Amino acid sequence: MLSIITPAYNEVLNLPILRERLATVLGGLSVEWEWIIIDDGSRDGTYALICQWAATDRRIRGARLSRNYGSHSALTCGMGLARGEGIVSLAADLQDPPEIICELYELWRIGAKVVWAVPQRDHTGLHTIFYSLLRRGDGLADHPLSGSGFVLIDRAVAEVLNAAEERNSNLFARIRLAGFSQDSVSYRKAKRNHGRSGWTQRKKLKLALDSLTGFDHALVRSMTYLGFLVAAVGFSMAIYVVALFFTGQPPTGWASIMTAILLLGGVQMIFLGVLGEYAWRTLDETRDRPLFVVEAATDVEETDDKLCPRCL
Ligand code: UDP
Ligand code: MG
Repeated sequence: MLSIITPAYNEVLNLPILRERLATVLGGLSVEWEWIIIDDGSRDGTYALICQWAATDRRIRGARLSRNYGSHSALTCGMGLARGEGIVSLAADLQDPPEIICELYELWRIGAKVVWAVPQRDHTGLHTIFYSLLRRGDGLADHPLSGSGFVLIDRAVAEVLNAAEERNSNLFARIRLAGFSQDSVSYRKAKRNHGRSGWTQRKKLKLALDSLTGFDHALVRSMTYLGFLVAAVGFSMAIYVVALFFTGQPPTGWASIMTAILLLGGVQMIFLGVLGEYAWRTLDETRDRPLFVVEAATDVEETDDKLCPRCL
């Protein structure tokens, strides 16, 4: 069974069109399917529509979140409800063409555990800078610079994600981090059908910060490096000031004050970095991510309990 999960925030105009296109696409695949729509605190009757559909079509299910939590939380909720062996995330606004699901499905059927639909993007800019920074994180080196688009994941991967509840995180980066065999197809992202994007600048900034602080401690470490740099400049100046003493020309006020400022500033930054390293480790520990995920083992009997249940 294939589960399609759609987070929906004020999408009452888009959902009926998506329903038709989705039914055509899924009807063409010889697979049982369900469509789970998570209303992320909409104010336009999205949930009433979901209820109405669910009452007449058993393949459609849904839930309503108590307020607007953001699409990653809505997707996480849907993953918990999904019964399928494969789970696809799909936006409600028809920017992710449902027809691509066939390509994702084919690659999944021949063995990939995660299949990405990667948007083709012509422009570069902030977006590219963000993804190149994100790629520095452990296990994220293959992240495409054009972003994530949407994705099909195998139940084995969903179980890894469901096992740990992460706050302030990025679901798509977590899927990359989960590992397993990952493949991708590329697609052209369509224009939004009706309404406005629910991703305000504020939400995007939050996701960027969550992603950059959640998967790599480069920000913390850069403080330590900067500290060493400033301290090195301060130290060189200290040598210069001492040397001036010996040449019989005592240093002027400026040089000694700068030396003290740079040295002290450097030392403070180094120790802020050190504190940051401890804070990062505490954060990492509390996040409860699995230390490793065993996908397969030759000695199944022995390692049974360590394998993720779906990989057996
Ligand atoms: N969405 C959501 N909660 C939000 C924002 C968006 O559930 O707070 C849903 C939205 O209804 C859509 C998907 O997430 O199905 C992608 O969001 P959107 O199209 O608004 O963002 P963009 O395409 O601009 O990234
Ligand atoms: Mg959109």
